[in-house]
Amino acid sequence: MVPNMKVLIVFAHPEPRSLNGALRDVAVEALQAQGHDVRVSDLYAQSWKSDVDRADFPSLPGDARLAPAAASKLAFEAGTLTADVKSEIEKLLWADMLILQFPLWWFSMPAILKGWVDRVFAYGFAYGVGEHSEKRWGDRYGEGTLAGKRAMLIVTAGGWQEHYSARGINGPIDDLLFPINHGILYYPGYDVLPPFVVYKSDKLDEAGFEAVAARLRERMSTLATTPPIAYRRQNGGDYLIPDMQLRSGLEDPGVSGFALHVGRSQTRHDEPDTLGSATEASAAVA
Ligand code: FAD
Repeated sequence: MVPNMKVLIVFAHPEPRSLNGALRDVAVEALQAQGHDVRVSDLYAQSWKSDVDRADFPSLPGDARLAPAAASKLAFEAGTLTADVKSEIEKLLWADMLILQFPLWWFSMPAILKGWVDRVFAYGFAYGVGEHSEKRWGDRYGEGTLAGKRAMLIVTAGGWQEHYSARGINGPIDDLLFPINHGILYYPGYDVLPPFVVYKSDKLDEAGFEAVAARLRERMSTLATTPPIAYRRQNGGDYLIPDMQLRSGLEDPGVSGFALHVGRSQTRHDEPDTLGSATEASAAVA
């Protein structure tokens, strides 16, 4: 018996008939068939405003200097964030599971989705939470407002899986997605599941699509049970406070860079044993 989940998909593609649009429909159908409640924030369809500016803070006096973080804090505390932002925050609080879905554009998320994060992840809600002192650097990286909830990415990329492997020229996919998985999702508390990545997506034909859809359905059926990426918790003892450096000797030999912040011996998704065969690579899931 799969426990009922509330799932929010934040979808960032301008064309509903795109590959991304078709995969979103597959995900929604699969989730609803399991009895989950699903809501979709379709950012282009909503004409989402992606830039942070004065209009976001209607209670800020006209002659006041705009300091975005301070204005965000005041507006969140006073309940004066704009209605579109409040509505997205309400959805995040409602959902047990957040999925961000997007095509990889210039090695990152489309600007409209970054703008959703910039505006919705307000000060006091997603950052600036908890005690900040010499003894504690806030509730973040595994703690915070969204702790206890899960999140994952659905990403399509034009490049091959090999190009995003440990020695691939594009850089390892886990490193490219680290700022999103660790910096945006883990930061306010989410447990982050391994991403679902479609490689060679521009070359996908109907048979390739069916293979990808089958893998996506499988991932949608294991959202509650898939182990999250084992990012280290800020306040779990692995980091020195207040300089927030990983204590020496905790890492596996030879590990450096972003991988330092994943607990010992967890398989990275760009390691050779997770690479499919060359023919499978177009439909591979990382
Ligand atoms: P679409 O163009 O909609 O479709 C892709 C293919 O899937 C088409 O051939 C389509 O026929 C086929 N398809 C099969 N079945 C279906 C179905 N049922 N419904 C719809 N289509 C189907 N790639 C990288 O790897 N790294 C980058 O940094 C990068 N930067 C980019 C920057 C920009 C500005 C752009 C425009 C592209 C970039 N790309 C990059 C490529 C990009 O990631 C892909 O074009 C994108 O992921 C493809 O997804 P889509 O939904 O737009 O596909």
